[in-house]
Amino acid sequence: MIKRGKPTQHRCSFCGRSEQEVMILVSGMDGQICELCTEKAQEIIDQELRKAGVQPERNEEGSPKSQKYSGPIHLIPPRELKTFLDQYVIGQDSAKKVLSVAVYNHYKRLQQGARVTSDDVEIEKSNVLFVGQTGTGKTLMAKSIAKLLNVPFTIVDATVFTEAGYVGEDVESILSRLLQVCDYDVEAAERGIVYIDEIDKIARKQDNPSITRDVSGEGVQQGMLKMLEGAEVQVPPQGGRKHPEQKLVKVNTQNILFICGGAFDGIEKIIARRVNTQVIGYNKKEIERVDKENLLQYITHQDVKNFGLIPELVGRLPVVVHLEPLDTEALRRILTEPRNALLRQYEKLFAYEGIELVMEPDAVELIAEKALDYKLGARGLRSLCEAILTDAMFELPTGVKGGKESKRKFVVDRAYAQEKLNRSQLGRLKAA
Ligand code: ADP
Repeated sequence: MIKRGKPTQHRCSFCGRSEQEVMILVSGMDGQICELCTEKAQEIIDQELRKAGVQPERNEEGSPKSQKYSGPIHLIPPRELKTFLDQYVIGQDSAKKVLSVAVYNHYKRLQQGARVTSDDVEIEKSNVLFVGQTGTGKTLMAKSIAKLLNVPFTIVDATVFTEAGYVGEDVESILSRLLQVCDYDVEAAERGIVYIDEIDKIARKQDNPSITRDVSGEGVQQGMLKMLEGAEVQVPPQGGRKHPEQKLVKVNTQNILFICGGAFDGIEKIIARRVNTQVIGYNKKEIERVDKENLLQYITHQDVKNFGLIPELVGRLPVVVHLEPLDTEALRRILTEPRNALLRQYEKLFAYEGIELVMEPDAVELIAEKALDYKLGARGLRSLCEAILTDAMFELPTGVKGGKESKRKFVVDRAYAQEKLNRSQLGRLKAA
């Protein structure tokens, strides 16, 4: 039986705390036990089991052990990691390389942690910052690598967090998500990887109207510092806001790898300014060699700082890597080549109806060209495909329902695609 906050003075028979002082008091036949003593009792049981040579099914923190992440750590060399990423992510070679090395080193650190070394050399973690336009594959890259890992992995959005005392979620709830992924196995979470998306949206605003507070920006960045560096963090297990009565879970972030990503809209101007002032006057050749179309490739920590991330946070993201903007060729390949390419998905949908979908190369080309116009990166591809294929997906099943004999072909050429786009909402949209 569980009693909560009743006026009668029941006390824990083990520690003597009254029911007002504890959250839960469980009554037995002639005594009670509170939640704190239950935990202590569990520790004693685990200790005794260990002494008796039995491995308890709980970890040091008393939280249940996740079966999913309990296996040994297998080191996968960076080259293999990259080959795996190649199946899902088109282009972005330098970003893939950097991510592969970061993940490999992360695993090595974990192994080092498990091993006792004599030389006192401790490998420090290298959190990563991805900078690239929207829809260029930042999240996809993080998601794809997660498929291969046997450590907990989660993606969180930086924009939902605000400084303590304001509406929104506490920064610590980044770790709540990680805990949820591994069924609250704290030990497993402490080896995990977190992808923080839209980190650029919490940049300090230059034209912040409040003199004293920048609720959405600097406060959140400050809150992240400790976590990114490696510290014991008190985490609200269900996420959201911390409140006084809540039981918090202690998570050490020393071995958690953080990957941050953002579009950093407008950072090209900052890069251009720096590149110009650096080279002007003493190296004319350098100026000529600067690729003005793709300034992102010259990004440095300095630019990220000037964009509005505080120096302390930038310092905790030692690896900065840029993602290439996607051109028509890359978009065409994205549509057709990855393992779960969009076109393959549509082919499968049509195949369920017994129809073979054939998208002719010039129709694919048209979609890629249009996606480039809309400046949505690869995100635009899906809306374009929907606009072109919705009519067919609406009409065709009717004719074939129940008819096994009808093995049909549906061919989309450039003219058909163009006509469907002209008629759709997208066709009416002016290119951005
Ligand atoms: P962001 O860079 O904004 O995080 P995402 O990774 O979420 O972009 O990409 C959006 C979608 O576009 C993905 O689901 C994926 O299908 C596609 N995509 C983007 N970039 C690539 C790429 N380089 N290779 C393959 N698909 C991509």
